[in-house]
Amino acid sequence: MSNVKKFRDEAFHRQGGLCWYCGRRMAAASDKRSNRRTAEHLLAQCDGGEDVAENIVAACWLCNTRRHTSKTPLSPQAYQDYVRHRLARGNWFNPKGGVAVGRDATRGSS
Ligand SMILES: [Zn+2]
Repeated sequence: MSNVKKFRDEAFHRQGGLCWYCGRRMAAASDKRSNRRTAEHLLAQCDGGEDVAENIVAACWLCNTRRHTSKTPLSPQAYQDYVRHRLARGNWFNPKGGVAVGRDATRGSS
């Protein structure tokens, strides 16, 4: 198991299994649903963020993907605020289980 996966799982347990951004319960990394757990680098790797425990939290795939499809990704704290704000308005994901995925969320980031 790579360090990133180890840190992700440690963060997952530290966070009580909840997404660092939206706070919903995350599924196994191998799950196909949008709430599967992923490792999120607080400081992106392209900005010099390292694969160390302090820089890695567990976030659901949806939040992780959406953050990085933005041309100018918000800071983790600003993005968390943004996600919570959208959630409060019922405008982040569909609580019935389906996910309203915007077009920009399916485009890959490079
Ligand atoms: Zn999330």
